[in-house]
This record gives sequence, C-alpha cells and structure tokens, in this order.
Amino acid sequence: MANRLTLAGIALAVLGLALLIHALRSRWARGFISGKTVTLDNVTLFSKEHLLVGRPDRIVKRGEELIPEEWKSSKKVQPWHIAQLGTYFILIEEHYGVRPRFGVIVTGDGRRKRIANTEELRGRVLAVAQQVRESRRQVEVELAVSPAGWQCRACGQRSRCRQAR
Ligand code: SF4
Repeated sequence: MANRLTLAGIALAVLGLALLIHALRSRWARGFISGKTVTLDNVTLFSKEHLLVGRPDRIVKRGEELIPEEWKSSKKVQPWHIAQLGTYFILIEEHYGVRPRFGVIVTGDGRRKRIANTEELRGRVLAVAQQVRESRRQVEVELAVSPAGWQCRACGQRSRCRQAR
C-alpha cells in the first residue's frame, strides 16, 4: 500500500512538473517575458498633459522596473510599432511615476525586439502629439500621411480618404 502511495506521489509530481514546463513553454511561445504582469490589455492609460491615450498589451514589473510588452502579428517591427511603444513609455511614466528603460515588441514569429526609451523617441512621439493637437484645433487641415499602398487597400476609410494610395 505504502509503495502504491509513493508511486502515485511520484506520478503526480512528474505530472505537475510536466504541466509547469508546458505552461512556461506556452508563455514563452506567446512572447511573455519574465516578470509579474501588472496589466494585460485591460488598462487604458491617459495623459492629461500630452493628451495621449493607449492600452498596452501587457505591462510587466521586474523589481522596480516597468516594461511594456506589445505583440504584433507582423514578422517585422515597423516604425509605427516603435512610436506606439514610445507613447506607452510616456503614459506609463505619467501614470505610475516610473520611467521604463525599455519595452519589448514581440513579432508574429515569436521574436522579441527590445526598444530603448530614448530622448530621441520621446521627442518624436511628443512632436507628433503636438502636431495632432494643432491639427485638431484647425479641423479643416488634414494631417499629411504616407502609408504604404497595402495599408490603404485594407483600410475601411479608403472610400472617404483624399490621401488614399
Ligand atoms: S486610405 Fe487614407 S486613412 Fe486609410 S490608410 Fe490610406 S491614407 Fe490612411
């Protein structure tokens, strides 16, 4: 009887270990980096100062650090992905009082690209935000955009857009 119980205990321990490895593998495959999840696509951040808004896919806490993590279906990191992360850096700093040192973009093939929170990126995001605010004041003036042809072809606004390609 005691032997059977010991065997059952070992089997349960092996099963538990297998489940743990499976969970870690799935988590890794999905792109999760290690750390405690603070938000998981469930918090919208708003900056009164800069009139920016954003909802990061995930914010991770590692020690005192906060790291935004963004998942993209494309296999290549695009400039607007970086700008989006730059917006999250500003929002997180304003909301949590912690300036992220970097964020992570996880592409569709599971690769992770680390994006540094530089002054250059911050300046670029704030310049665009300023441009948007000014354009809102002059609602007649269109913001000049330069999307790729495939983006316009897939865009629901194409029939109404004067800049469609
Ligand atoms: S159709 Fe117009 S709104 Fe849509 S992606 Fe092209 S430029 Fe932008």
